[in-house]
Amino acid sequence: MCGIVAYKGKKVCFPILLNGLKKLEYRGYDSAGVACLMNNKIHITKRAGKVKELENAINNKQSSKNCGGLGIAHTRWATHGEPNQKNAHPHVDASKKITLVHNGIIENYDPIKKFLKSKKIKFKSDTDTEVLVQLIGYFYKDGKLDFEKSVRAALQRVDGAYAIVVLNADFPDMMIAARKGSPLVLGLKDNEFFIGSDVSPIIKHTQQITYLNDSEMAVINGDGYEIKSVDKDVSLPKKVEKIDYKIDDFDKGKFQYFMHKEIHEQVDTILNTLKGRSTKSSVLLHGLSEYWEEINVAEKIYITACGTSWHAGLIGKNLIERFAEVPVHVEYASEFRYNHSIMDNKTVVIAISQSGETADTLAAIAKANDFGAITIGICNVPGSSVSRETKCGIHTRCGHEIGVASTKAFTAQISVLYLLALKLADSKKKITSHVLKKHLNMSGYEKSAVGLNPYGTKAIKSLLRKEKSINKMAQKYKNASDFLYLGRGLNFPIALEGALKLKEISYIHAEGYPAAEMKHGPIALVDKNMPNVFIVPKDKTYDKIISNIEEIKSRKGKIIIITDSKDKILRDLADDLILIPKTNQYLFVILATIALQLFSYFIAVAKGCDVDQPRNLAKSVTVE
Ligand code: GLU
Repeated sequence: MCGIVAYKGKKVCFPILLNGLKKLEYRGYDSAGVACLMNNKIHITKRAGKVKELENAINNKQSSKNCGGLGIAHTRWATHGEPNQKNAHPHVDASKKITLVHNGIIENYDPIKKFLKSKKIKFKSDTDTEVLVQLIGYFYKDGKLDFEKSVRAALQRVDGAYAIVVLNADFPDMMIAARKGSPLVLGLKDNEFFIGSDVSPIIKHTQQITYLNDSEMAVINGDGYEIKSVDKDVSLPKKVEKIDYKIDDFDKGKFQYFMHKEIHEQVDTILNTLKGRSTKSSVLLHGLSEYWEEINVAEKIYITACGTSWHAGLIGKNLIERFAEVPVHVEYASEFRYNHSIMDNKTVVIAISQSGETADTLAAIAKANDFGAITIGICNVPGSSVSRETKCGIHTRCGHEIGVASTKAFTAQISVLYLLALKLADSKKKITSHVLKKHLNMSGYEKSAVGLNPYGTKAIKSLLRKEKSINKMAQKYKNASDFLYLGRGLNFPIALEGALKLKEISYIHAEGYPAAEMKHGPIALVDKNMPNVFIVPKDKTYDKIISNIEEIKSRKGKIIIITDSKDKILRDLADDLILIPKTNQYLFVILATIALQLFSYFIAVAKGCDVDQPRNLAKSVTVE
């Protein structure tokens, strides 16, 4: 949560910072602020609300054109203190010489605040963050410690998570950044330095980047920089890498919202994720090869994740148990990290996170590593903390996902889990080579560079062409106050995901249930106003789910059916029906997901909601 961007160089910093904040706004949009150093003084502008408010405030200031080449900026997702102007970052210390932006939570803010108050330091905000800048100021005051040592001394005394960038008016040629638990990236270009919570504000300027590790500081001074330890005053090696994100990933193109663009991108992103990962007769997952022997003999598997990724985990469980016959437990990372989990070096823990920075998932990985488990990361951001903290992993190669409600990352995660399940089954001789080949050549719709694409690009394209009719349906249901989403087997997680998408972006209450479970409680909610979305593949659950539809129909609930069957009975039962192309049961899951993504999207647009920045949410949850 929260986006940080900072610049040090010869250019005027505000346009770079504002542009950067706009790219990072998906991470938080409660308030925004900038600080720069002009004539040896810190100048701060901040506003409650979105970056646009800040931009208007800055454009109205004459001085903004002379803001110099050193500045920090922040877009906030509040944890401590209301989302108002007073609590917006950057914050300053009592001397007004030191300013800082922060992403994370200072957990021991209360005792530190009491201590600083006892030293007559006055606080202006309700945030945990101000405690940190005041503590740095306390150590720095009267030159007791130099700037770098003051930052280090303060950081050594705080618990919790932080990514920070700090300026000091006495050091107009210096900028210090540090991280523990929250992400921070340093971009390098000749004598210019860019800092971001992720690469999105940096990529336009440079591809040379350094990912800061936990407990590392970047001390930028003059035209040079050092990577140092937060724990002691020692230099650490610099690891500069070239990243190859496309700038296009950060633009909406012809679409009104990133979410809509990202739904459409699934035509390519699934293929991209699968590309090079299979031949006609085997699955290739190079990212796991170093640990494959251990993975193959593991006695149990945990999958841990949050939100949409947790739903992908449920599908992973179904597929791995179905093909490879290894027991799989799926746990919310926020629970797993504190539960009494039974793990050892024969346990595999798969952690799924789009951003690779989800705080709870990272804590779950740390716990699994402590037990000696084999940790596998499935994430979308190379170089992210999940990639670095797990022993091995598989990247979902679907490009930057900006819409707060995850879409293309989910279908890429399912694709990767499908391959993993097949590879495990093959290694354990639980499926014959004939069956494996059938899976890998399943649809035959489209040949990818290596192997066949089991998901069928044509089917996805053909579904996307139906979006007008899905939009029409959305108009009809946009005023409903509650929805039930019902599916069985592989499609139960899709029901959960469909309900979550609707809640996230349209604020309509929705619940996902296994279709048969609905009788044990939720059916009490059904009346003539309640839409019930049934996911109905023509598979072995078909007859059972028809009975479940009848049960709702007889209580006058509205029936919406997502199916690949043209059976008349479904048309008779449905108030509305989305017919998705006939493929196979695995591709059905992807197609049903896309249909539900579009349905939620059009409802949210019809209700006038801000689809890419839904209230109270932020894209990557880097706090506990
Ligand atoms: N805890 C800080 C605040 O509330 C930063 C929040 C965050 O990183 O999400 O201002």
